[in-house]
Amino acid sequence: MSIYKIHGITPEGHAIELLRELSIPLVPTINLQQICAKKNIQISYRPLESAAALLLSMPGSGAKILLNSNNKYCTRDNFSIAHELGHYHLPGHHQAQYKCDIREIFRFNSSDDKEREANRYAAELLMPEPWLKLRIKMADVTLPLIISIAEDCQTSLTATAIKITRICPDRVGIAYSEDGVIKWTAKTKSFPYELRKGLVNERSSINEFIITGCLSGDLRQIHPSAWVDSPYQGSHDWPCELSSAQLVNFNEYKVEYGGDTGDDTGRESRANILTAQAVLEPAQLQDLADLIPQLLIIKAKANLPFKFIVNIEVGDGEEKPSEETVQEINMLLKGVKENFNLQ
Ligand SMILES: [Zn+2]
Repeated sequence: MSIYKIHGITPEGHAIELLRELSIPLVPTINLQQICAKKNIQISYRPLESAAALLLSMPGSGAKILLNSNNKYCTRDNFSIAHELGHYHLPGHHQAQYKCDIREIFRFNSSDDKEREANRYAAELLMPEPWLKLRIKMADVTLPLIISIAEDCQTSLTATAIKITRICPDRVGIAYSEDGVIKWTAKTKSFPYELRKGLVNERSSINEFIITGCLSGDLRQIHPSAWVDSPYQGSHDWPCELSSAQLVNFNEYKVEYGGDTGDDTGRESRANILTAQAVLEPAQLQDLADLIPQLLIIKAKANLPFKFIVNIEVGDGEEKPSEETVQEINMLLKGVKENFNLQ
């Protein structure tokens, strides 16, 4: 039995404990760089063969997390950092080095206890349950909601969907297919059926997409046997035996973007993202702010994600800005976004 279980604290409990210890609000996006800086953990990138990440503990002087520079997905990097923080923080994870295989980090059913614990820790750190419960309480769990939560948390669709199914009280089953093959499924405790594995059923409207390349709508009403295969031995009310279920609403969505393996739906490929960088004086930044309405029109017209990643540098490199100045600036920045502060 792991030490955390003896103490009655789960990996999720340890993740929340870390956020509270560092006075980090349990509201995504969780700033992992801030956590690593406070814990004296350096992050760097190297080409790593099969590993997604490495944790090197340096007794008395923190640790190093090495991320695979060949990885194209920033949501994977986030999850890898949080996973390695799990190895660093969880009781019973005492190895001086963890070399975490890409298949272990992004598969949530790893046969290795420590890898599973680090994944649970990572999912909680990035998607704190108290916040997530409130988020899903306010709306039906649909793919647009999962995408929106994944964007807030900077997590992959896979990690987000799996985390949601672990805490959602509603009957939700999720199946992810790629090229006609169901790659993974997840369901809530209250979902009464087993989801199909293997090839996508020909009755599914997703099959129409596989054959024709088109899907003429988002929501379909289909027979449940297209997606589930074990009958529920219950009453004739829903949930009921499959033969009595007749037509049930199943949300079938075509996801426009693809992952590289299907295990992690990497929406955030950097390959085709164009960026513009410049050092702006305050007046030029004001000019940029004035352009935002026009940029938003272009964004809407092209239907493209649009993001501003702001990096503010204060100081001349010789003398550290005074505490008072930093506090004054941070008070203003906090008004723009929580956790947006100089450090
Ligand atoms: Zn690991």
